[in-house]
Parts: sequence; C-alpha cells; structure tokens
Amino acid sequence: MSLPQTSRFDFLARRLDELADAGLLRRPLEVTSPQGPRLGVRDADGRRLELVNFCSNNYLNLAADPRVTAAAAKAIERWGFGSGASRLISGTTSLHRQAEAALAEFLGTDDAILLSTGYMTNLAAVTGLAGAGDTVILDKLCHASLIDAARQSGARVRVYPHGDVDRLDALLAKATGRCVVLTDSLFSMDGDFAPLAAIVALKDRRRFTLIVDEAHAVGVFGPTGRGVGELLGVADAIDVTVGTCSKALGGAGGFVAGDRVLIDALRNTARPFIYSTAPPAAAAAAVVAALKIVRGEPQRRMRLVELAASLRERLADAGWDIRPSESHIIPIAWGEADRAVAAQRLLIAQGLLAVAIRPPTVPRGASRLRVSLMCDHSADDLAALAEALEAAREQLG
Ligand SMILES: *Cc1c(COP(=O)(O)O)cnc(C)c1O
Repeated sequence: MSLPQTSRFDFLARRLDELADAGLLRRPLEVTSPQGPRLGVRDADGRRLELVNFCSNNYLNLAADPRVTAAAAKAIERWGFGSGASRLISGTTSLHRQAEAALAEFLGTDDAILLSTGYMTNLAAVTGLAGAGDTVILDKLCHASLIDAARQSGARVRVYPHGDVDRLDALLAKATGRCVVLTDSLFSMDGDFAPLAAIVALKDRRRFTLIVDEAHAVGVFGPTGRGVGELLGVADAIDVTVGTCSKALGGAGGFVAGDRVLIDALRNTARPFIYSTAPPAAAAAAVVAALKIVRGEPQRRMRLVELAASLRERLADAGWDIRPSESHIIPIAWGEADRAVAAQRLLIAQGLLAVAIRPPTVPRGASRLRVSLMCDHSADDLAALAEALEAAREQLG
C-alpha cells in the first residue's frame, strides 16, 4: 500500500503561510527601467509607475552611466559574455587583471582579487584567514555575508554588542588561536560608522587581523573615496579591506585588497574563487570604468555627503527617529512591521519608493523605512520625501 499522497513540500507551504500571517511574505518588486534616481516599476495590479528611487545602493548613479555601460558593451563585443571557466583554469582575461590592478591602485594596496559577488568575497577573505582552532570576533550588526563566512570558517565565533569596543577588547583577551576581527565600516541598516579608530587602537595591546567590509562606503567616503578607513585616517591600520563593486561602483563583483602575500594566498586557496566560474570580462571592464569616474569626479561623492547631511538634519528637526545614521543610509523608525508597510504604501502613492525593512532583517518592533540617497537626487526629491513622511505620520498616527 502506498503512503497517502501529500505534497512533498508541505513543510515549506506551512512556513510560507506563517510568514504571510505575520505580514512578512516578500515578493520582489518588478523593475521596468534602468537603475537611476527615477525607477520604473510594475505594481501588484500590473500598472507601470515611475517612482523616485530611495532604495538603491547605486549611490553614485553609475549603474547605468553611459561610460560604464559602454565599457561593458565593448568588452562583450571583444570577449563575449560568458567567461567559460573558473579563474585558475582559463577564465582570467586581461580585463580581470586590469580590474584587480585598478582596485589595488584605488585602495592603495599591493594587490587585489576580484570575485563574482561581495558575498563570495567575504567567504573567501574570512575562510582564508581563520580556521579550526582560531577565533573570529564580529560586531552584532555585521552583514549576513560576514556572519556566514565566520561560521563557515570553522573557527570559534564570538560576537560583541554593536560598536562596543570594550567588549571586543574583553573577547580578544580571552581568544585562542589566531584572532580575526570583522566589522562593516558603514552599517547597512542603521547607516552608522564602526568605531574604527578605537578598534585599531586595540592593536597596541592585542594581536589580531582586522578585516573591514567597506561595501557601502567605497567610492563615497574619504578624500579619494577609499571608504570610512580613509575618512577616519586609519586605512593603514586595516589589515584587509573587502568591498563590493555592486554598490557605489554601479557594477557587479566583490574584491579583497591587501598585502601581496594575502592576495596570492587567496588566489591559491579561496574556494569561492577557485570553484566558481570567473565573472564576465564585461563586469571587470565596468569596474575599471567606474573607478576612473570615481577618481575624476569627486563632486559626486561630495554632493552625496551633502545631500545626506541636509536630509538627516531636516528629518531630525521634524522629530523623526533616524537612529544613529551619519551617512546616506537613513533609517526612519516606524515600530511594528505593519506600520512601516503602511507608510511605504502611502509614500508610493506620492511617487516615492522607500522600502520597509522588517523582521527578520531587523528585530521585532524596530521596523523602519530605509532611505538611501544617490548623488543625483534633487533638493526637490528630498523635500517631497520629507513632506510625504509628514503626511503619512498624520494619517497613521
Ligand atoms: C551588499 C553587501 C555585501 C555583498 O555584496 P554583493 O556584491 O551584493 O554580494 C557584503 N557586505 C556588505 C556589508 C554589504 O552591504
């Protein structure tokens, strides 16, 4: 006799029902235009809308910049699209080497290694530096890719409360094996900086390797756009910089930048590098083109920093809780998930797209509308956002 016929994924269907009941079921928004300060989207009823885009990581508006797309298109014509093999077999083109050299030069390091995504990059960097018997210590609010990398390394994993350097110091005092400390430089949910100067100062007393993830900061902060390490004057004390080409640089891929021996070791041992097909040469070409723009047009990052300061001031003056934001990532607290979602809907009705961030990405009761700015937003865009938030607050109480 056969068993009763049930769906083989009942347990998943139940999980989806639970998410739906909690108002946490998510579906990707369908985008119908290139990335930019205005974004075409198709709503749930199939209507096309054009919204002011306050929810992209395309901070310098390079994702559809004609110079970046022309470089990528030219590379596709010259090299084709697919890269055909992993980097160590036959997937490394001259363009991949050029992109790595350009990243190293931009970041002022000996060398850099390019991977297909920032997520894979963090796996490569952390597993390359820590293993069984070692200790990885990370900030509670580190990006998921750093958490996953720490777990995958096989090292003992310790977590310190967000930004709490005294607790980090205490964990370092008790750590065994080689010690690796991980932190984002700019935290992606609250928009605040890591206390990098204080972390670096611990090096006077403790031995550890410091990996800083500059994903949201490369191209944006510091006199030459290297990131928060440069802004705070501690770049030289950071042992390993990781970052992504997919945010301010407007492309795709991630990188580790650092000493020659580290990068050589990663090329020889990092599984996400060895066991994955090389990124398309076009992605490497786009990185080279984007870095040239970042170098040549500092006004982009200056304008972004100015816009962000003016919006933060305006929102704080209007009584909004914008958490500890000190950047172009500005969370606006709405409390429960349903309120944040309602606020998102009211904003969309005003032609503005800022996405509600809810559990599990943030803790219960800490849902927010997360606004991120681009250098090409206008003063009118920011004014419209402030007014729409005010109207939503009146309506939702
Ligand atoms: C986005 C992000 C990543 C992942 O980069 P991708 O290129 O999108 O895979 C890694 N770390 C941090 C802090 C990020 O914000």
